[in-house]
Amino acid sequence: MESEKSIKEKQEIALKRAEELKGAVNDYREAVKTMPTGFQQWPQILENQKRIKEYFKASDDDWDNWRWQLKNRITTTKVLKELLPLDKKEVADIDKTGSQYRWAVSPYYLSLIDPDNPDDPVKRQCIPTIEEHLDQGGHDDPMGEEYTSPTAAITRRYADRLIIKVTNQCAMYCRHCQRRRAIGEKDFATPREHLEEALEYVRKNEEVRDILMTGGDGFMQDNQTIAWLLDELDQIPHVEIKRFGSRTLVTMPQRIDDELCNIFSEHLPLYVNTHYNHPLEVTPKAREACFKLARAGVSLGNQTVLLKGVNNDPFVIRKLNQDLLQAMVRPYYIFHAKAVKGTSHFRTKVEEGIEIMEKLRGYTSGLAVPTFVVNAPLGQGKTPMLPEYMVSSGKDYIMIRTWENKVLRYEN
Ligand SMILES: *Cc1c(COP(=O)(O)O)cnc(C)c1O
Repeated sequence: MESEKSIKEKQEIALKRAEELKGAVNDYREAVKTMPTGFQQWPQILENQKRIKEYFKASDDDWDNWRWQLKNRITTTKVLKELLPLDKKEVADIDKTGSQYRWAVSPYYLSLIDPDNPDDPVKRQCIPTIEEHLDQGGHDDPMGEEYTSPTAAITRRYADRLIIKVTNQCAMYCRHCQRRRAIGEKDFATPREHLEEALEYVRKNEEVRDILMTGGDGFMQDNQTIAWLLDELDQIPHVEIKRFGSRTLVTMPQRIDDELCNIFSEHLPLYVNTHYNHPLEVTPKAREACFKLARAGVSLGNQTVLLKGVNNDPFVIRKLNQDLLQAMVRPYYIFHAKAVKGTSHFRTKVEEGIEIMEKLRGYTSGLAVPTFVVNAPLGQGKTPMLPEYMVSSGKDYIMIRTWENKVLRYEN
């Protein structure tokens, strides 16, 4: 029998354990010292913005206006090379890929690029490379989206929830876009009759309780259309919650204006999922936009895509998720990049994602641990991929593996 320990003895054990625990985050704390983030880089980003504003002869009010940001998206190498150092080959490559896949970058998102870093993770997400053009693998539509669209604007892959695509437009066209086949040469808002038709479908299908509005980008329509859609949905008794998918919180935070926030606060419960991929994207300006939505009562989630050369690193994802929590954004999903034509150079092995999950659980707040998923072929649904924590089982026990890799018996 173990003798009862004194309080002091117990405390000594706790102190020893605390020392041991500190060791578990030392490598991370060392790694983030040299990891660029939106907060740490902000003075440099403001310098970039000053340069870009001068080029466009834009005032601060222009810059803060999302219509200005949208209208002045950079879409040609002629303008881009005035704003970023590019060599001849890079210009030729961008033009070559650009003739096949559209690109556009908001002035704000462009300002996040460090001009001195050729491998900048923001640049990699928004500026075309020749790898896109050379990629012969993958499919245009690996999800078979066309087979899961009961009406023009709807994608339905689940029993109780569906997507309404409200536009094909985005503030920035991600180089890793999984829906690039839908991103044509022209921006178009979904025609009103297609939205009416989608609403009619929702009205008629009473099991549908969750409506996700996305695109393109769910915030690329005007405030009036958003208000109209939310009004219509709120009149359908079986619609319990509304959601939006938008990357403007990352690429064009100016979009989150007071009017939009007022509309949202009148249409709760409302959830917004956004798409941060790297800590560099979590800037003071982006966080302010997140706070505005949070103050309006909107609950915020993040969907990261695991991207080679951008964020396929356990410490980058941990830092990203911790910075997101500071912006009131709850990490929701990490997606494995599917085989979409023109994006193969971004793909990782699934095992890399599982390793990242292994390095999150236990090492950081449970709030900073999203679900890692692969999209099953043919729109069969998001499927979680997890490290194994149940090692084996017997008649009345299981063997578990803890986050520190200790294998222990657990009575069952
Ligand atoms: C991702 C997705 C949803 C939402 O899925 P959740 O796991 O509930 O976030 C709904 N419909 C479609 C077609 C989707 O692809």
